[in-house]
Amino acid sequence: MSLTETIQQIYPDEVYNTLVQIGQIAHRLGLKAYAVGGFVRDLLLQTTNFDIDIMVNGDAIPFATQAAKEFNAECKLIDRFHTAHMYLPGMTVDFSSARKEIYEQPGALPTVSLSSNITDDLHRRDFTINAIALSISPDKPFELVDPFGGARDIERKQIKILHAKSFEDDPTRLYRALRFADRFNFNLEPTTEDLFDTAIAMNAPATVSPKRIAAEIDKCFQEKRPLTLLNKYQSAGLLSFFHKSFTRLKRPAFSFCMVKAVATRLSFKFKNISENALFWSLLLLSIPPMEAQPLLNASGLPHSITNTIWNTLTSFASVPQKLIAANDKFSIYKTLSEATPETTGLMLLCFKQPEITSKLNTYVNELSKIKPAISGDDLIEIGIAPGPQIRDIFEQILRQKLNGIEMTRKDELDLARRISGI
Ligand code: ATP
Repeated sequence: MSLTETIQQIYPDEVYNTLVQIGQIAHRLGLKAYAVGGFVRDLLLQTTNFDIDIMVNGDAIPFATQAAKEFNAECKLIDRFHTAHMYLPGMTVDFSSARKEIYEQPGALPTVSLSSNITDDLHRRDFTINAIALSISPDKPFELVDPFGGARDIERKQIKILHAKSFEDDPTRLYRALRFADRFNFNLEPTTEDLFDTAIAMNAPATVSPKRIAAEIDKCFQEKRPLTLLNKYQSAGLLSFFHKSFTRLKRPAFSFCMVKAVATRLSFKFKNISENALFWSLLLLSIPPMEAQPLLNASGLPHSITNTIWNTLTSFASVPQKLIAANDKFSIYKTLSEATPETTGLMLLCFKQPEITSKLNTYVNELSKIKPAISGDDLIEIGIAPGPQIRDIFEQILRQKLNGIEMTRKDELDLARRISGI
């Protein structure tokens, strides 16, 4: 089957039409356009990938600007890198200019210059399977450009670097090698494996910033089987470059397998729960609590996530004891609702004792959905002044409802009047 037929078979028509149209726009601007990276690799593996990377042998900015105009699409230009993102329904298209890279210092980001030669651009990539281009220009429609034998390595099911200094230049490729091998069930090609071992023996990732390592760990959480990959990172010694205590994961492996299921279960009750924050919190339980905060600050993860992780770790230190001591439904509710929903998730993952799990389940299944029927505005309308008293009133209403007293809206307003004395 030709690649054109494969695209037509595995993708909706919109994807094929989009590629053809982008190729034509490039042609009109006197450029050659190629799909590159994961999209092409996945196409050869006959799987879909709706994050499409397009590379042109010239400046991608005017090209992307024109494409966005013709697609009538939202487009974000990043002038400094000569790249752009275009958002189309159901897919994102990233445009980049063919580049050449020189690594002046191992582990540091490379010096980049534009190049009109697409082999230069493919040569700066991590593995042969990711260094394949697919021409989408009308003169060479859906023709592969594969100077490093990526298609052959996909058939051989192997991850192969492009040159002997690859891991040294960019040790994040060590993490990427294991990630792709695990995702596709591929092996490292023998020379790549030797160079992988040498790079680790030489502590190559020690030159990489915590931010870049955190980004790799974060990607691991998005894989289908994060635990197997995490174990592979750990046995290769790659996690300990993020923090020395990660030579051993303190939480049982099983907990990591359950993160997705627990996050999904909780997402029905708590709209803003973050699976990602739950993964990180579980992972960070393996290091001394005081060391988690500087690590999070250096991780480059979004502040909203690092705050949630930090709050979760802090609560995790005290909430289990409070929960054991909680002797009515209101106290259970108060203990857990004052912490992040991720704290509840983390406890579900880490505790097996019935005196904790039964209360967690009561909170999730029953208590978390109980709310006052009235709002703060209702209280203000009946003449209660905004302030701490409103919080007390809500607490009392909740206490009664959570402990099984049925209350209508009117009952709640009557109670509010009694408490406030109006
Ligand atoms: P995924 O399916 O995980 O998104 P991907 O191959 O699209 O896989 P990205 O991390 O989005 O992965 O990278 C896009 C492309 O950029 C890769 O296919 C690869 O060619 C190149 N690339 C990414 N990171 C590196 C790196 N550290 N060194 C060299 N090339 C890289």
